[in-house]
Amino acid sequence: MQRLEKLYEGKAKVLYSTDDPDLLIQYFKDEATAFDGKKKGIIQQKGVLNNKISSRIFRYLEGKGIKTHFVDMPTEREMVVKRLKIIPIEVVVRNIAAGSLSKRMGVEEGTPLKETIIEFYYKSDPLGDPMINEYHIRAFGLAGEKELREMEASALKVNRILSEFFLERGIILVDFKLEFGTHKGQVLLGDEVTPDGCRLWDKDTKEKMDKDRFRRDLGNVEEAYREVLKKVME
Ligand code: UDP
Repeated sequence: MQRLEKLYEGKAKVLYSTDDPDLLIQYFKDEATAFDGKKKGIIQQKGVLNNKISSRIFRYLEGKGIKTHFVDMPTEREMVVKRLKIIPIEVVVRNIAAGSLSKRMGVEEGTPLKETIIEFYYKSDPLGDPMINEYHIRAFGLAGEKELREMEASALKVNRILSEFFLERGIILVDFKLEFGTHKGQVLLGDEVTPDGCRLWDKDTKEKMDKDRFRRDLGNVEEAYREVLKKVME
C-alpha cells in the first residue's frame, strides 16, 4: 500500500491518503514537542519505536475486544489505519496523580487516587487544549451522548487491560491520553498509544519511562522508549 497525498501533518505524525478511500497511512516522525509546542526536539528513532509500540498495543487491545483504527504495520514508520472522523476531544485517564493534576490539586506526584479519574480536553492547538466537562461536550456538540458513553466505556476498559498488561511487565500505568473517531458509524480508538501520551513508571525504582524524560530534560529518552518497546514485546 502506497502513501499518496499528504492530508495532515501533526507534531509527531503525518497522515496520508492511500488508494483505498477507507484507509490512511500514519507516518511516525522523530520530532517531539511539549508544553503546547513551545519546547521542540528530536528523539532519535522515536518514530520507529512508537510505531512498533503502538502497533503491538493496538493488536493486543483488539484481541481483548477494543475497537481501534489499527489495520497493519507495513513498515517501521508506517501504520495503516481506518479513516476516522476525529472527535475533537482528548480523553485522559488517571490512576495516580502526576503532571497537571498534581499541580492543579497541589498534591505530590505519585499520590494514589481513591478511584480512576477521567478528564476531557478540547482538542485545539490555538487554545492549548483546554479542560472541559460533559456539559461543554454537549453544549458545543463536540460529541453525541452515545459517542461520549462509548468513549468513556472504552477508555475505562483500555485502562483495565493496559494497567494489567504493563504491570505484568514491571511498569505502572500512571495516566494516559486517548483519542477517538468514528468510522462507518462506529466509535474507534484512534491516534497512538505510546510513551508520548502515557506516563509509565518502573514498578520498583519509579523511574520515568515516557515523554516526561524529554519534557523535564532527564536524559536517556531514546533508551527509555527502547526499554518500553522491549517490555511490550515480551
Ligand atoms: N497528554 C498527551 N497530550 C496532551 C496532554 C497530555 O498525550 O496534549 C498525556 C500525558 O502524556 C499524560 C496524560 O496525558 O500521560 C496527562 O497529562 P497531564 O494533563 O498531566 O499534562 P502534562 O503534565 O503532560 O502537561
